[in-house]
Amino acid sequence: MNDEHESAASGGHCSCECAPVERRCDTLVIGCGMSGLGAAIRLAMYGRKVLIVEKHNAPGGLNGFYYKGGRKLDVGLHAMTNFVRAGVKGPLNKLFRQLRIKPEEFALCPQLGSRISFPDAQLRFGNGIALLESEVERLFPSRIDDFRSLVRIVEEHDALDTSRPQAGPARARVHAILKDPLLAEMILCPLFFYGSASEDDIDFDQFCILFRALYLEGFARPFEGVRRIVRVLLDKYRALGGERLMKCGVRRLISAAGRVVGAELDDGSIVRADNVISSAGADETLSMLGNSVGVDEKGRALPRLSFVEHMACFDAQPRDLGWDDTIVFFNSSSRMNYRRPSEAVDTQSGVICFPNNYDFGGPRMNEGMLRVTALASYDKWTAASPDEYERMKESCAERMLGKALSILPNGAGALKRTALTFRDTFTPRTIEKFTGHIGGGVYGSPRKLRDGRTPLENLFICGTDQGFLGIVGAILGGISMANSHVLSRHQV
Ligand SMILES: Cc1cc2nc3c(=O)[nH]c(=O)nc-3n(C[C@H](O)[C@H](O)[C@H](O)COP(=O)(O)OP(=O)(O)OC[C@H]3O[C@@H](n4cnc5c(N)ncnc54)[C@H](O)[C@@H]3O)c2cc1C
Repeated sequence: MNDEHESAASGGHCSCECAPVERRCDTLVIGCGMSGLGAAIRLAMYGRKVLIVEKHNAPGGLNGFYYKGGRKLDVGLHAMTNFVRAGVKGPLNKLFRQLRIKPEEFALCPQLGSRISFPDAQLRFGNGIALLESEVERLFPSRIDDFRSLVRIVEEHDALDTSRPQAGPARARVHAILKDPLLAEMILCPLFFYGSASEDDIDFDQFCILFRALYLEGFARPFEGVRRIVRVLLDKYRALGGERLMKCGVRRLISAAGRVVGAELDDGSIVRADNVISSAGADETLSMLGNSVGVDEKGRALPRLSFVEHMACFDAQPRDLGWDDTIVFFNSSSRMNYRRPSEAVDTQSGVICFPNNYDFGGPRMNEGMLRVTALASYDKWTAASPDEYERMKESCAERMLGKALSILPNGAGALKRTALTFRDTFTPRTIEKFTGHIGGGVYGSPRKLRDGRTPLENLFICGTDQGFLGIVGAILGGISMANSHVLSRHQV
C-alpha cells in the first residue's frame, strides 16, 4: 500500500479515484465490546493478524463508559458477575488464564450484599451461596431441601454443552423443584433481569449459567468502574500487536461460494479476511449479507426486551443515608411480569444499584450514585418526536426514582437529607444507537446460536446472541469462538 492509500484510510478512497483502500487480515472481528475484545486478544495471542472494526468511537459496547457533567460514567455496569477469589475454579479465573491477565489487573472489589425485594418477603444474598441458603431456610423453612436440590441440579447441569439442543424453558421447572411459588419467583427475578432475552421466561441453560454467576459466585467491580476492565483488555490487545479501526463499522459483508471473503466498511474501504467473528448480533450480522432478519420460522417478529436506566448522583454516601445494599432486585407483586410493557417504562419491577456499595478497602467515591433499571417499550420511545422524547425521559426518570425510593429503607426521607447533583437517563433508543442491537435489545435475540455458527462456514457470532452475557460471559464467549472455530486444537 503506498502512502497515498495509507493516508486515505480513514476516507476509504484516495483523491485520485482509484480503487478503494483494501486491507487484509486473518480474522476480522466486528465490534469492540467485551466479546469482540475477548476473541481478538485470544487470536492475537497465537500470532494471528487480527483487525477489530467498531462503528463507534468508544470501546466497550454495552459495557462502555462516557463523560458527561464533568463525570466519568459507566454505560451499564452494575456489577461484574461470576466473582470468585483467585485460584477458585470458575469462569472468571478461566478468563484470566485464557487471556493471561493477572486477577489483580482487574482490581475487583466484592459487593457488600444484595437483596431480592417482593412485597411479602425480602431475601438477602452475598457472594457464595451461604447467605441465600440461610435466608431461604429462615423464610421458607419447609422448602430448604428443595432449594438445596435446585442448587445441586444447577451444579451438575452442563449448560455449555452445545452438542445438544437448548434445555427449554426454566420457569415451570424451577416452580416444580421449589414447590413454593413465591420462592420460585424470587429466585427467578434477578436472573430474568440479568440475562433473559425471552418474555416471562428464561432458557434452563441460561438459568443455570446465571444462577451460578449471581448466587454461587457473586458480584464485584473495580473502584474505577468498567474503564479499568476495558483499559486492561485494550492494553493487552495492543501489546500483542492487534489492530483496531474505530468509528468505522461494517456496512456489508462480502461472500462467495458459502464463505465470507471480506467486508465493506462505512468509509468505503474493503477488508479481506479468512474468518469473521461478529459481536454485532446474529440478525444484525446476517443483515450485513442482505438477509431479512428478526423473524421466527413462521415469519413472526421476534420480540426484543429493552430497558430504561436512570442514574442519579447525590452529595452523600448511600450508607450514610441507610442504604447499604449493593443491588436490589424488586417486584411489586408475588409474580414476576417480565415482558415488553405497553407504556414507555414499567416500574412494577426492576433493579436498583449503588456502585458505592462495594468493599473498596478505603477509597470512597466523591458522591453517591443510584442507578435504577426497568423494562421499557422500544416502540414508544422510537415513535416519540424529539420534544416528546425529552419529556418522556424526564417523567420516566421521576417515576423510576420515586419507585426506587419507595423500595429503599426510609427512601423519600433519606433523599431530603441530601441534594441531587446530576441525573442522566438512557432509553432503548440510546441502546440501539450505540450498539446497533435491533429493538434496543439488551440481551439480543431470544433465539441463540450457542455454537456461534452461521450459514457461512467461516462467519461466527460471539457474545450476546451466542447466549453468553454480562462482562465475564461475553469475554468468554469471544474466547470460545476463537478457540473452537479459528485456532486449531493443538494450539488451545
Ligand atoms: C443497562 C445495562 C446494564 C448492564 N449491566 C451489566 C452489569 O452490571 N454487569 C454485566 O456483566 N453486564 C451488564 N450488562 C450486559 C453487558 O453489557 C453485555 O452482556 C455485554 O457487554 C455484551 O457484550 P457483547 O460484546 O456481546 O456486545 P456489545 O457490548 O453490544 O458489543 C457489540 C459491539 O459491536 C459494535 N457494532 C455493532 N454493529 C457494528 C457494525 N456494523 N460494525 C462495527 N461494529 C459494530 C457495537 O457498536 C458494539 O460496540 C448490562 C447491559 C445494559 C444495557
